[in-house]
Order: sequence, then structure tokens, then C-alpha cells
Amino acid sequence: MNTLRETFIRELGDIYDAEKQLVKALPKMAKAAENDQLREGIEKHLEQTEEHVQRLERVFEQFGEKAKAKKCKAMMGLLEEGQELIKEKAGDAALIAAAQKVEHYEIASYGSLKSWAELLEENDAVELLEETLEEEKNTDDKLTEMAESVVNVQENEEDQNQRRKAA
Ligand code: FE
Ligand code: FE
Repeated sequence: MNTLRETFIRELGDIYDAEKQLVKALPKMAKAAENDQLREGIEKHLEQTEEHVQRLERVFEQFGEKAKAKKCKAMMGLLEEGQELIKEKAGDAALIAAAQKVEHYEIASYGSLKSWAELLEENDAVELLEETLEEEKNTDDKLTEMAESVVNVQENEEDQNQRRKAA
């Protein structure tokens, strides 16, 4: 059985790879967004994601380890699905759902890492992980708000089209 410290470093390598994959994928998602607010939101989260990568490098340092990425298959799958939606021009509602799946994955990872850092009494690491966790949660909340408003916009468009047809 692995020690908690080994488990922590393994999970840290996984989320480190996941964040790096995201830095590459978010510009494509931003470009695909039709709604301005959604596009700007994704662009802002790209900046934050770049910081998340750097923060993780500092956490590795706290643990006296070299930053090493471990291929995150879950993020690969989530981003592949996102890419498919973009290709199919599935629209903003679908894009928001894909982005929220990514955030929820990150929230789960950072939540576990933070709990383990607490148990390992690595307080500086706890703070760094907490900062990122809060940013992921805020992003998720903003996406929820947009899911409600963007979906409504799309439905209103349909209503208008139907009314036009009826007239
Ligand atoms: Fe992140
Ligand atoms: Fe994120």
C-alpha cells in the first residue's frame, strides 16, 4: 500500500497534467463560444488556469519533489467530448455543460489534495490548494448562472422563430 504522501504526489501529478491540457484546450473553447459573456469568462479562466499550473509547481516544491506530470486520462476524455461538441457546432449550452464537467473534476481533485495536505500538516500547500479550489468553485458558479441565461436566450430565439412562422 502507498503512503498518503505517495498518493498525494501521484494525484498532484495527475492534476498538473490536467491543468496543462486545459491551458491548450481553453482557447479553442473560447473561440467556439457564441455568447460574448461566455467567451470572456472562458478567456479569464484561461489566465487563472495558467496560474493553477504555477501554483502546482510550488506545491511540488513544498514537498521537495520535482514537478512531474502524470497523464490524466479523465481530462483527455472530457476535452475530447468538448472537442466533439465544438466540431458538431452544438452551441453554447453544450459548451457550458462540457466546461462544468471539467470544473467538477478539478474541484474533486483539489478537494482531496487539500484534505490530504491538511493531514500531512503541509500548511503552505493547503493554502495554495485552497486558493485554486476557490477559483474553480467560482468558475463553476458563474457557469451555472450562464447556463440559465444562455439557455433562455436560445429558447427565446426559438419562440421568435415560431411566432414569425405563425404570422
Ligand atoms: Fe484549474
Ligand atoms: Fe478550472
